Amino acid sequence: MLDDIVREWETLQDPASRAIVYCRSHNDAKRVGQQLKCGVYHSGLKSSAAKKEAFSNWVNGGLGISKFISATSGLGAGIDIPSVRIVYHYRESLDFLGFVQESGRAGRDGLPAKSKVFLDTTSLKRLENLEGVRTSLGQQAIFEYHIKGFCRQAAISFYVDGMSTWCVNSTDSDLIHCDLCQILRSQAKSVAQPSLSDSPSGIPHQ
Ligand SMILES: [Zn+2]
Repeated sequence: MLDDIVREWETLQDPASRAIVYCRSHNDAKRVGQQLKCGVYHSGLKSSAAKKEAFSNWVNGGLGISKFISATSGLGAGIDIPSVRIVYHYRESLDFLGFVQESGRAGRDGLPAKSKVFLDTTSLKRLENLEGVRTSLGQQAIFEYHIKGFCRQAAISFYVDGMSTWCVNSTDSDLIHCDLCQILRSQAKSVAQPSLSDSPSGIPHQ
């Protein structure tokens, strides 16, 4: 899983580019940090100096210093680094709004950026188990986004703004499509977008 992250990163040429790997727990963040040989940032760090050092190394870079940072949601509000090109989530987030905010830390300079989620079999099982026991719109959105084959951008915009337009149905020719809509577009398909009222709890199914 982490090999895929490194391979993709190596295709980015801009030395100013940065990436965040968000993890669910301190232990995951430590493990990912060790494997990627990058700084680690989470609320369990003993001193604020350690946090500042990890953050400063990541932002300012330098020879031998990784452009990745492995973090929990502790790397949160107020983080506005324009050159973040990719935000990875190592396993699913349990808080959809938090996930959306974290993903939005990529591309703050207005240039193309990516959000990617890496799921192992344990994560997939956990997510699949949400079907039928979803008790909140947030849980439903997490399920739709990760498992249901739902347009990623539509899932987010419906959860955040109550709007739900699949990118494959958008008339904006400059819009960068999510991965699922890219597949649909390559198959020259449009999607008969379901009515919101077809879904008992709000988010339409494909
Ligand atoms: Zn889409």
